[in-house]
Amino acid sequence: MIEMKNVYKKYPNGIVALNGLNIRINQGEFVYIVGPSGAGKSTFIKMMYREEKASSGEIVVNGMNLSNLKNKEVPYLRRQIGVVFQDFKLLPKLTVFENVAFALEVIEEHPEKIRKRVMDVLDLVGLKKKARMFPDELSGGEQQRVSIARSIVNLPKVVIADEPTGNLDPDTSWEIMSLFEEINARGTTIIMATHNREIVNNMRRRVVAIEGGLIVRDERGGDYGYEI
Ligand code: ADP
Ligand code: ADP
Repeated sequence: MIEMKNVYKKYPNGIVALNGLNIRINQGEFVYIVGPSGAGKSTFIKMMYREEKASSGEIVVNGMNLSNLKNKEVPYLRRQIGVVFQDFKLLPKLTVFENVAFALEVIEEHPEKIRKRVMDVLDLVGLKKKARMFPDELSGGEQQRVSIARSIVNLPKVVIADEPTGNLDPDTSWEIMSLFEEINARGTTIIMATHNREIVNNMRRRVVAIEGGLIVRDERGGDYGYEI
């Protein structure tokens, strides 16, 4: 469960990116975050995994109050949240297998168990056979699958995605979306910022529109709602 109360974010340059935002997202929900560029979507998302700190307000993620979270507790928070980016952010010198294994937070886990866990998630995203390849040997859609595998390898309760289909063609975007649907069907909360009108309008999930750092619309089974 994620809850934000009166969250305000002012960047050091004086820009107010979030202006007293309130939201509650329950475990297992699928939420699209829409809105024009500069609306505050990325900032909103960054609040949840403490990539940015709120200037004021209260944020609770899976029972952790982020206002009281100590820096040394941030890795514990991040283990419970998978993050997927538009530009994949894979490590180019590591293989597909290693990119996913690198994210796996294990304390003295048996190597064979690590290998099994990594191969199981690669199987889930359809990339088991490409485990030994490097990111630049893969298509954009395949690279995004690797980053999705990396985001779920620790079995997080929440996966957050910022424009995950922004660099992909329409067919590939649909494949990536069905993967997110499958992950959500297994009980994981999905929060996704997107400009992809077609996907939002077809999926009919909760749609939260942000403008000027505030939620201006919050609908179950909503649509994209913008003309451009
Ligand atoms: P969106 O994701 O909806 O495009 P952002 O959250 O990226 O919106 O940005 C909201 C506002 O905050 C914009 O005016 C943007 O220029 C500003 N902003 C974003 N990140 C920073 C930063 N690190 N420093 C200063 N201003 C920022
Ligand atoms: P299968 O059961 O179909 O043989 P495996 O689980 O053995 O599949 O492995 C699938 C692919 O991943 C193979 O190409 C394999 O060599 C590769 N692979 C397995 N383990 C590792 C590893 N530790 N590092 C890199 N690649 C691996």
